[in-house]
Formats: sequence, C-alpha cells, structure tokens
Amino acid sequence: MTSPTAPTGASAWTAWTGGRASAVWPPPGTDVPLPAQDDVLGEARVVVVPLRTRFRGLLAREAVLLRGPAGWAEWAPFAEYDDDEAAWWLLAALEAAWVGPPAPVRAAVPVNATVPALAPGEVADVVARVPGARTAKVKVAEPGVEPARADAEDVDRVAAVRSALGPGGRVRVDANGGWSPERAARVLAALAAQGPLEYAEQPCADVAGLVDLRARLAAAGLDVPVAADESIRRAADPLAVVRAGAADVAVLKVPPLGGARGLLALAEVLRRDHGVPVVVSSALDTSVGLAAGVRAAAALPDLAHACGLATGSLLAADVAGPLVVVDGALDVAAATAATADLSPARLDAVAARADVAAAWRERLGRAWRRLATASRTGGGAGSAGAR
Ligand SMILES: [Mg+2]
Repeated sequence: MTSPTAPTGASAWTAWTGGRASAVWPPPGTDVPLPAQDDVLGEARVVVVPLRTRFRGLLAREAVLLRGPAGWAEWAPFAEYDDDEAAWWLLAALEAAWVGPPAPVRAAVPVNATVPALAPGEVADVVARVPGARTAKVKVAEPGVEPARADAEDVDRVAAVRSALGPGGRVRVDANGGWSPERAARVLAALAAQGPLEYAEQPCADVAGLVDLRARLAAAGLDVPVAADESIRRAADPLAVVRAGAADVAVLKVPPLGGARGLLALAEVLRRDHGVPVVVSSALDTSVGLAAGVRAAAALPDLAHACGLATGSLLAADVAGPLVVVDGALDVAAATAATADLSPARLDAVAARADVAAAWRERLGRAWRRLATASRTGGGAGSAGAR
C-alpha cells in the first residue's frame, strides 16, 4: 500500500477520479488514512430538517452529521442515489471532518438568492432573506405543471425577481433539465426580452440537448450563456459537457465531486483547458454542508459569479447557524465558527426517528465499505484498489 505524492492540477483530477469509476480515498493531495467505520459512525447524528417550501419535491431534508478531528461534516446523498454515488458524497464528508478545508484565498464568498417555483407576489420576501444579494437564481420548468402554464408562470416569476432586485440585479434561471431545446429557446427568448440573463442553468437534460439549444440561441441572435449542473455532477465524465462546447459556466457542488479538493482540481481543469468559470452551489444542505461549500469557494483562485450557498433560508430549522449573509456575501471565518460546535439540544430538536436513523447508519456503512475497498491508504478493509 503506497501513499500517493501530493498531485496538483490536472494530475490531481486524473489521479483522483480514475475515470470516475468509483470514489477513492484519500482526497487528492492528502495522505490521511481512511477513518475506521466505527469512528465514522461513533458520533454520527441523523437529522430531519423541515423545509419552508417544497423543493426538489421534498418537504424535509434528511442528513447525517459526522464529527472528525477537523470538525463536523454533513453527509446527505439524496434517497434515489445508489451506494456508488453515495460513496462520492461520503468521500466529501470524510474529507471535511478528517482532513479539513483547503487553504482559503478570500475572506468572503458572494452569494445569490434562490427563488423556488413561487407565485410572483411571494418573490420579494424570498429575495429579501439574502440581504444585499445582487444576483438571484430562479427555479423554472416546474415538474408536474402543464408546460404552457409553467412557461407563463416562469416569465411572470422572473419579472417579479427583476423588480425585487432592482436596477443592476443579475438573474439566472435553473430548469433542472426540464426543457426540450425548442421549449428552452422559446422561454429564454421571452425572458431575455425582459432584460439580460446571467445564464440558464441546465436548461435541457442531456449534452445533445444543450448543444441543440446553443445552436438555436445563436441562430436567434440571443446572448444567453448556458451553465451545466446535472451534466457535471451526475455524469460519468464531468468534462464531456464542456468538451462538446455545450457549457459556458460550470456549477460545481462539493459532495458529488468527492470534496473540496476534487472540486478545486476540476475547476482548475475547466479554467485552464476550457476557459469555463465555475459557480459553487449547495445541495439543499444544512448550515454544516453550506459552510463546507463556502470554504471550497473561498479556496478557488478565480470566482467571477455569486455562489448558490445562501440556501439556508429554504430550511425551517437548522442544526447550526444560520449563516448570516452580509452585503450579499458569506464571511468564511464566520461560517466556519458558526458550524464548529453543534449544540446537542439543537441536534436533538431535529433528531430522526429511530428507524430512519438506523436506515441511514446502514446506508453509511455500505458507502464506507465502497471507499474502504477502493482506498489507497487502508481503513481496515484491505484489498487496496481492488474494486
Ligand atoms: Mg441546478
């Protein structure tokens, strides 16, 4: 069993992903041994946090909070993810709790307001929950709504967000892959007629759809940049979408990329080889997960766009914080301090039922075994690199 030398840049990316076949411990550039399963489960707390509004079809968010020598971390792969995908998320959580964050290069991270599929009259309050935000991301293409009605509601909602932000505000939309290329081109034309769009995030589900859309936008003379989210975070090859010329911006999340160091390595390749800037976003996290995102964003050499890390206000309760936005930004030291010590009383208040907690601990054990099997530095399960 060998301890890897500290790789950087593209070598970190290739060394770490191995083609993204499976998550591999340790994170690039580190040599901390994989923590034993008993240590990971020992102080794990399973929580169920209620949401203010239905989001991603959920009314509550289940998460596991892990405590290691570097602090608390959050592990909350969505229910439909299999053990391989959950192992990537565990790699990220163990990096945060056992290795700690990469070195920051900025003290604060600009953030955007996130507006769910609400009626226009409800928009201003949501934007106001992120004080000083000059950028808002608006959810569009709501699933389950008749398309013509959804499109009309999207146009009205974006108009309401523009007026809530006032002059100079930047608006981006996120369709979560819900549009066909034809429908995306039509709705984006209507939205662009109101004013500039910073970008359209994952307007179509697959890379071919994004390529098709970009041709339609170019033919119509519409200057709407396209951002890739799902095409990166759930793809076997996260770079395929930029190689196809289908994305102007990449939305990166810490958990599916196996942690902050994996995110930084991918961001470096995107910038250096493709000229694609990144946005760090959350996955409907508690303040603990959000703080990890803030620390990853703080370590990026370049950060040209506001990050989607002010989503704590979507939660009706939290395990720490809340992280307080000041002048449209989250302070890195404050976010770290707010999540350094979790109050047992607050954790008890959102503790999961025993059966829910048991299922999560079982799932965590399965994800840990995935990492242990693929680990380059031990962890007690042996057979390094055998997967
Ligand atoms: Mg998205």
